[in-house]
Amino acid sequence: MVTKTSRKTTKIKLQLLWERGKKCGICGGEITSFDDLTVDHIFPIARGGKNVIENCQLAHKKCNVIKGDKI
Ligand SMILES: [Zn+2]
Repeated sequence: MVTKTSRKTTKIKLQLLWERGKKCGICGGEITSFDDLTVDHIFPIARGGKNVIENCQLAHKKCNVIKGDKI
């Protein structure tokens, strides 16, 4: 299901790619595969964080999973 939030997140992902390049905000490494590219919410949505670009960074899928809902 495509929600309003996930459509917005896709837009943020492309904007982050354009502005900051393919760099993981969690481990600092380069993200080499588009499949591995996720948007991490620095302050998690589940904890009341906003789905805005200022609260987002690009992250490897595995880094994002490890981080989960932690701040
Ligand atoms: Zn990473």
